[in-house]
Amino acid sequence: MTLQKNLDRARGIDFPTNAVIGGKLIGAKCGKTFDNVSPRDGSVVSKVAACEAEDIDAAVKAARAAFDDGRWRNKHPREKKKIMFKLAELMERDLEELAFLETLDMGKPIRDTLSVDIPTAINSIRWYAEALDKVYGEVAMTPSERLSFIVREPLGVVGAIVPWNFPLHMACWKVAPALATGNSIVLKPAEQSPSTALKLGELALEAGIPPGVLNVVPGFGDTAGQALARHMDVDLIAFTGSGEVGRKLMSYAAESNLKRVALELGGKSPQIVFADAEDLDAAADAAAWGIFFNQGEICNAASRLLVEASIKDDFVKKVVERAAQYAPGDPLDPASATGAIVSESQMRRVLGFIDRAPKEGAVLARGGKRAREESGGFYVEPTVFDNVANTHALAREEVFGPVLGVIAFKDEDEAVRLANDTVYGLASGLWTANISRAHRVARKLRSGLVWINGWDACDITVPFGGAKQSGFGRDRSLHALEKYTELKGISITYRP
Ligand code: NAD
Repeated sequence: MTLQKNLDRARGIDFPTNAVIGGKLIGAKCGKTFDNVSPRDGSVVSKVAACEAEDIDAAVKAARAAFDDGRWRNKHPREKKKIMFKLAELMERDLEELAFLETLDMGKPIRDTLSVDIPTAINSIRWYAEALDKVYGEVAMTPSERLSFIVREPLGVVGAIVPWNFPLHMACWKVAPALATGNSIVLKPAEQSPSTALKLGELALEAGIPPGVLNVVPGFGDTAGQALARHMDVDLIAFTGSGEVGRKLMSYAAESNLKRVALELGGKSPQIVFADAEDLDAAADAAAWGIFFNQGEICNAASRLLVEASIKDDFVKKVVERAAQYAPGDPLDPASATGAIVSESQMRRVLGFIDRAPKEGAVLARGGKRAREESGGFYVEPTVFDNVANTHALAREEVFGPVLGVIAFKDEDEAVRLANDTVYGLASGLWTANISRAHRVARKLRSGLVWINGWDACDITVPFGGAKQSGFGRDRSLHALEKYTELKGISITYRP
């Protein structure tokens, strides 16, 4: 694979632009489209159906009809599994195309979309297909004249609203368990990255998922997204995105039909490096990767680096050296480790934090500028700020870009206090060779995930989600199935 070959391949990519509603590929009823801008060079790569409330309503009606007549949920589990496996197979067949779509839509490097994003999404579909007939109900301990059993039933119509940072991967974290449990779905991708979700909708039909079961409706958040979250016939909104929108979704649910809401929100995740860590080079690798991978556009980015004061200066040098490996390049270049920031407005937001940090007292140790401006795209240098205080905006607000803040601490108590002094609680990490300290600190950190001597040790078998304002509800693992099902207790009374 070379840059030239990828440029040629990219020219031949056919962008899906229509909504998938009730098994049909259709434009928005209002006839409008929106520009899908590639952050790679600022060009418009496709014009996508700008769906609104009436399209959402059509999709919800199609989903409800499919749920009510049981065309999916009442299929034999073996059959459902076969169809989901077929979907995974088709995604594998089209892996390269999906990877190019995602790279062009949101600017992430092709080497990651080919080896991480799309394979991980496929793995989610397979994993939940495998799980779907392995989770049983319960029999309760009731008096002898009664038999009570507890079953899990699908909720009905699931509205899934997803962000742009891992477009297909996040969509599949929701679509796969929702399908496995027999629900119908209306998926609304982010307006910055609609293409792979639309393609997923098409592939689902090809795989044999009955029409109406998986509907994909592109559009803007305050139109299509809001209409979905306010819809009176949607049973759950499964959301990944910002806290600001998460709050709105809770109020839309309260103001409409009290639908369930599950929120996977942002983070300001601390990575704590103690002086007694066994391998400070590995810790420095993880510190750089944890913030610069995916241009820092990761909810669980290791954006606060807490380092024990006695080793701080040396450790920062190591991280700064490693940052050079993440210099942004053309996302289509197989040599690029990072690519473009998703949009011009997101890039400006990131540069705004960079501007403000020195004014609050942080010291720029590396980067700090826009890059590759001549490309027409939106790139930011991997940036490290030293001498950050936990009160600075850089330590409190989610930047969602390649900007690291280094904070020194003097002892374990202070490290834990600083780590927990945030409204977020998605992930935390710590590096130490002391096993007692590792356990002690891990139990004190208030976050949904804690990684010891490694960062982002993610696996589909472990639930993903946060504490505090990072949200509630979990993606991944068998626990995700709980979100898409309702418990029902059924009791039979008989003569003893
Ligand atoms: P965002 O909240 O702006 O948008 C997410 C989705 O919500 C998009 O599809 C958008 O169209 C939709 N939306 C926007 N306004 C809406 C409204 N009023 N009603 C209904 N839907 C609406 O987030 P983003 O900028 O796309 O993504 C970045 C955010 O996602 C970050 O905060 C990041 O931390 C978070 N994130 C969290 C996780 C996690 O698992 N915890 C994973 C990835 C990203």
